Amino acid sequence: MNSKFEKLIQKLENRGISLNNYISSNDIENLANDLDIYEAELLAQNEELISKEFENKKLIEKLNVIFQNAPSPYFLLDENLNVVNYNLEARLNFNLNKTNNKNYFPFFCLQEERNDFLDWILKKNFKNETYETYLNVSKNEKQKFKINIKEISGFEEFNYLVSLTSIEKEMKLLNEIKELEENKLKNLKKFIDSLTDIIVLTDGKLIKDANKRLFDFFDYDNLEDFLANHKCICEFFIEDYEFFHLKKIDNNSSWIDYIKKLEPSKRIVSMKSKNDNIHIFGVHINEFSDNLYSIVFSNETSSYLEKSVLKNKVLKDKLTDAYNREFFEIKIDKMINNLSNENTQFTLTMIDIDFFKNVNDTYGHNVGDKVLIELVKLIKKHSRSNDILVRWGGEEFILVMKIENKDSLYKAIENLRITIEMHDFQEIGHLNCSFGGTFYSLGEDILETVSRADKALYISKNNGRNQTNIL
Ligand code: GH3
Ligand code: MG
Ligand code: MG
Repeated sequence: MNSKFEKLIQKLENRGISLNNYISSNDIENLANDLDIYEAELLAQNEELISKEFENKKLIEKLNVIFQNAPSPYFLLDENLNVVNYNLEARLNFNLNKTNNKNYFPFFCLQEERNDFLDWILKKNFKNETYETYLNVSKNEKQKFKINIKEISGFEEFNYLVSLTSIEKEMKLLNEIKELEENKLKNLKKFIDSLTDIIVLTDGKLIKDANKRLFDFFDYDNLEDFLANHKCICEFFIEDYEFFHLKKIDNNSSWIDYIKKLEPSKRIVSMKSKNDNIHIFGVHINEFSDNLYSIVFSNETSSYLEKSVLKNKVLKDKLTDAYNREFFEIKIDKMINNLSNENTQFTLTMIDIDFFKNVNDTYGHNVGDKVLIELVKLIKKHSRSNDILVRWGGEEFILVMKIENKDSLYKAIENLRITIEMHDFQEIGHLNCSFGGTFYSLGEDILETVSRADKALYISKNNGRNQTNIL
């Protein structure tokens, strides 16, 4: 039998109370067993409680670690809105220490805003919304916060959990991110603008965007300025049988599709720059997004010119084998630059056949062509090896010569004029030309030099042709 129970019976008997008088010994036995069971149950329950309590303690410790290390300030307030606990961020932000931790929370508000804030709490508006206000963070400093309050039940010590988000910090972070993105974009744009290739974004009809190189090349300030005058870069492709241009396709078909189908070495166009110089571009088409292409025009003029087989093809007039205007435009800068270390001057002489129309009219166009070929041969034969003869237009030529002075230029031109005058052209006999010569003056635009030579030629024509004038 249960020993505690036996002691109890013993004690009762000592006082003259015998349980046997009331209940049977069987019952006493049963009672003792029940008590054993009850005691064991109590013990078990107790153990369970202890382990539960231990777990709760551990949980609370964990929660406390989280609470303490939360990245923004947290406060626990009692029912009177007094601060009963706060985390590390709160302590740092509000300069709290143990002596002032019994703060009345609304005191953190600026005085003038305190009543509104209280009003907001009392109306329990915090259930659905946050509150934005300035809080005194340290003695003379305030900072704007978003305040979030949660009512907490089941704890004696506190009733409210308050969390704060610093709006300035949030804004600063957002601004930092924005700035970072903007800088990234700026750098990217700077990089794209600094490329020597022209890059355009287009649907094939209209330019949507382009890098600075495009505007520099054609002399526009920006995209708007460009679009006010042109729609498509394809408008600039020069008609040249060697390269792609719009006359090679139907009006309705897409130039981009056409170029894409060409073999890569044929994807070439030529365009004139703002200085009237011709440049040759490789065209590289990439699909950017639906119906939008990014097209890179890589300037391959110099490498193209280097390919000497093609050089003559590109830069020489097909009929007469004189240099063509493109050659003049591409090479003229180089020729001028080479001048600086020489004593000679750089001259242009414009040559135009007199009454050439009559030749065509009398002998036909084919004979006219043959005369042009013969004339070029004649001029080349009678000029020096480093003189350059350019077919400027139909029956107009420019002879580029390096000459010391005006007298020498006059003599050189007159020699040529007389040579032509004396020459017996096959099929037509004699013809003559008018000449206008001029000197290139350092620093001027070569087109000004050309136009002065043109004026000199005009004087020769006006004064009766077959003569030389120098301006
Ligand atoms: P001028 O210069 O003395 O005033 O008289 P012009 O008859 O030469 O007049 P202009 O220079 O205005 O005319 C040039 C002519 O040259 C007209 C055109 O038919 C002819 N022409 C231009 N290019 C070619 C060509 O490649 N082949 C032939 N056969 N004729 C050409
Ligand atoms: Mg003419
Ligand atoms: Mg003429």
